[in-house]
Amino acid sequence: MDEFERAVESIYVALNGKVEKERIRKELRKWITQYGVSISEAKRSIVSNYGGDVRELQNSIKAVNELSAGEGRVNLRVKVLSINPKEYEVDGTKKIMHYGLIGDESGVIPFTAWKLDVELRKGDCVEITNAYTKEWQDRVTLVIGQNTRLKLLPPDSVKVKMEIKPSKIVELHPKMGLVEVVGKIMSVDEREIEVDGVPRKIYSGIIADDTGEIIFTSWDVPVQKDKVLKISGAYVSTFRGMPQLVLDNRSHVEEVDREIEIKDIPVNIESLEGKGGLNVLIEGVVIDIKDGSGLISRCPECGRVLTGTNCPVHGKVTPKPDLRIKAIIDDGTGAVLALFNREMSEEALGMSFHEILEKAKENIGYPSMLVDEIEEKLIARPIMVRGNVSSDPKYGLRMFVNEFRMLNLEDIAKKAEKMLEEMGW
Ligand SMILES: [Zn+2]
Repeated sequence: MDEFERAVESIYVALNGKVEKERIRKELRKWITQYGVSISEAKRSIVSNYGGDVRELQNSIKAVNELSAGEGRVNLRVKVLSINPKEYEVDGTKKIMHYGLIGDESGVIPFTAWKLDVELRKGDCVEITNAYTKEWQDRVTLVIGQNTRLKLLPPDSVKVKMEIKPSKIVELHPKMGLVEVVGKIMSVDEREIEVDGVPRKIYSGIIADDTGEIIFTSWDVPVQKDKVLKISGAYVSTFRGMPQLVLDNRSHVEEVDREIEIKDIPVNIESLEGKGGLNVLIEGVVIDIKDGSGLISRCPECGRVLTGTNCPVHGKVTPKPDLRIKAIIDDGTGAVLALFNREMSEEALGMSFHEILEKAKENIGYPSMLVDEIEEKLIARPIMVRGNVSSDPKYGLRMFVNEFRMLNLEDIAKKAEKMLEEMGW
């Protein structure tokens, strides 16, 4: 049932079935489209126009996404997506409250339960009567209080729009909605900032599992280095062309007693399309060296690459020489532009920057000498590269290489051997 049909239903119930649903639909459409009022205002207007009691509307079942903060007498039919106990103390007495996430076909919200008159488990469908809402950390939260009643519904009678899907880090994509991951906190920084006058703690760092790693930002939810955590109800956003895992008070973080093996396995370039990745490993073949590779000139002030001696910002300057390689690497599933800075280029060429400058001076009548040498060293060669990959609608996938290794036939043979071993040969 969509929001419109739910509104029709609640008006119908509030009017004790005295007005036909088709008529209510027409009325509701008129109020919304012609008078431009909100659904909840339209509901109240129609009920009072037909002589009904608008308070009856509050007894009807609401949709999660209709809720705003400060509502009383809230009735819902929801599925429990997560539930956790928490101990607290009142006047020296220990008590248990529960918190978690609930959802229906319209959305998902957090809840806090001070009292549960039936035992709730993850996956249960339940009708909640007479709860209320409040705002907590910028979000609407449902509160199950002393006067709230719960009634279990048949299993799977409530469909949830956003189920939380357990995912591997390599699969995380900004379009996923809410996700659940199990990963190890590799690094974390803590800082405090003020948002709308409210001090907030931000923990940010890197979390990894056996498929890869990702930057995370946690709002007010503390995380510790080296802990293996199950994070549920987090979401994925984009940060500098790479995916980022965001945790906030909707998320549930739980330490799990599990070792996570951080493996060094190459990813398919295809899996990075449209999202990029942090510190990823790629194995492929160099299929092209792009223009702008080799010795280049940079503005000494801002580092812009110059074609002459004029910087568009700093005017006439004495350019500084630099070295870089822009290589296209293809792994059969896709291609990435790999950018080698001076240090990585020196390594790829097996020469120091100084030696390269000397060699260029000796071959002043042969300007393509260096590019020819780069092509000879790299093109059609299997290579392993590692670095951050950003995804940009204009530039596509670009990797800033911070580690690379030429793969040789021995590596490839070893790999085949290991694969056969694993297959039981
Ligand atoms: Zn400049």
